[in-house]
Amino acid sequence: MTHLVEVRENLQISRILQEIGEIHAIRGELFRSRAYLKAARNILTLTENLRQMHEEGKLQTIPGIGRGISEIIEEFLASGDVKYLKDLRASLPPGVHELTALEGIGPKIAFKLSQELGVESIEQLETAARTGKIQSLKGFSSKSEENVLKAIERHRKTLQHRLLLGQVLWLIEEIRDHLADCRYILKVEAAGSARRMCETVGDLDILVASAHPEKAIKHFASMPQITRILSKGTTRSSVVFGGSFQVDIRVVSAESFGAALQYFTGSKDHNIKLRTLAVKQGYKLSEYGLFRRKDDTKAAGETEESVYHNLGLPYICPELREDRGEIEAAVAGELPELISLEDVQGDLHVHSDWSDGTATLREIAEAALSLGLAYVAICDHTRSLGIARGLDEERLKKQTLEIDKLNKGFEEFRLLKGVEANIMSDGNLDISNHALKELDLVVASVHSGFKGDEEKLTNRILSAINHENVSIIGHPTGRLIQRRQPLPIDFDKVFSTAAEQNVLLEINAFPNRLDLNDVNSRAAQERGVKMAIGTDAHAVNQLGYLDLGVAVARRGWITPKNVVNTLDVAQLVKQLHQ
Ligand SMILES: [Zn+2]
Ligand SMILES: [Zn+2]
Repeated sequence: MTHLVEVRENLQISRILQEIGEIHAIRGELFRSRAYLKAARNILTLTENLRQMHEEGKLQTIPGIGRGISEIIEEFLASGDVKYLKDLRASLPPGVHELTALEGIGPKIAFKLSQELGVESIEQLETAARTGKIQSLKGFSSKSEENVLKAIERHRKTLQHRLLLGQVLWLIEEIRDHLADCRYILKVEAAGSARRMCETVGDLDILVASAHPEKAIKHFASMPQITRILSKGTTRSSVVFGGSFQVDIRVVSAESFGAALQYFTGSKDHNIKLRTLAVKQGYKLSEYGLFRRKDDTKAAGETEESVYHNLGLPYICPELREDRGEIEAAVAGELPELISLEDVQGDLHVHSDWSDGTATLREIAEAALSLGLAYVAICDHTRSLGIARGLDEERLKKQTLEIDKLNKGFEEFRLLKGVEANIMSDGNLDISNHALKELDLVVASVHSGFKGDEEKLTNRILSAINHENVSIIGHPTGRLIQRRQPLPIDFDKVFSTAAEQNVLLEINAFPNRLDLNDVNSRAAQERGVKMAIGTDAHAVNQLGYLDLGVAVARRGWITPKNVVNTLDVAQLVKQLHQ
């Protein structure tokens, strides 16, 4: 199985499109703005290299990328520059773009502040607020000044939004690649929430082992993707990537790398508990190592394993370090055997160009084979979704014949015949039972009608679980990270009914879904529910999201036997028809 594909220039290009979109918004050109912002988002979640896609003439197969945007990408790839962006930047009064990063300051207000007060930066705005200049403007008051100062404070604290785990994993790859060129750097690891595979990451901590910290820092700070250096010391530095995402790097010696990695991986609560345990055993644990209290000699620190083992514990995987019982389980010798990517034999939720995906059935099969998968379930949308090419009974039938034909050509691989049906507001599916009976599996998902009380939404899901042909409930809570709250459903009822009916709950691995999440999948496992991991890929490069689904499962303490993707195809089909 491959891991997330290395992507070099994608982030830079995404940032350029993001900035173009933001400037269009400032200029009031909302329609254009949306197109660029959407393209920027789609590029962030690509796993394929844009340069390679360009060489293969495939840029426009990316959702949201038409001719205009693909020309911008090509210009950047050829020259490292985008004239359109330069012109746009020049069209704004200085500082306006920066000011709109503040909460509550939209384009109009930013314009006004810049024109009437000559404010060109957040610093100058702060001075204007502190000296009472803002309240002198028409339509502003002392209250607005307070709000501006609060917004500035918040902005400095968070320095912008959190990135999705999937986005951060690529950034880590870029940083690794860059640091690999420096001969003074011995080891590189991401620490913090990214290493624990949390679903979003606020800022990224990179830890480096080197005997020449200043040279290591200098090499890091030379990354072209860095847009601002916040601080640069002899052993650490803080920088900003892409105008908004903070990355902190620390350099430590190889002897204390393990202790530092343990310390900076966190979580805070896990570390507090671990330090207490160390004290009880006569040790002191810090980022420098594990020391015997009686004579201050070092017991461990070069590797993380050495730290845990010296405390009498088995190694605890980063994904478990949330103080959710993992230290107690380690002490008792009861840590779960976690599922890993190597256990996963197939993907149980993929869209093709029969609905809103971009790849043909054959292309999906070939991509899956190259990832080492043994099967992929084709689950295109049904027709009521309002997607232009949603399947009806007749096209679904045609698709299954096509899949049968393709399958004859494979020896060790199989496309499974599936569908992603909509759970309608009355709890019924939008496709007839006789069509569903012919399939290997049926994913049923809520795609519309998210409003409603807990009882109504829960009953909708329950009737899908009780449906005679449903195998998997897709993205069970419907949440979109940072965009849509999860549906208020009664998990107690959903879990017990799913366990009873042998219906699987999905761990949807799409970067902004991760649904079920870690906590809910753990609860599901405890209630005897089995799970299915599906990438919900709409393009072949998105099959790489399996990593993210596995990460969620690991954070949820999930063992291989509770995830049906670990079965071979014969066992799987048997399980699905139980
Ligand atoms: Zn869906
Ligand atoms: Zn889907």
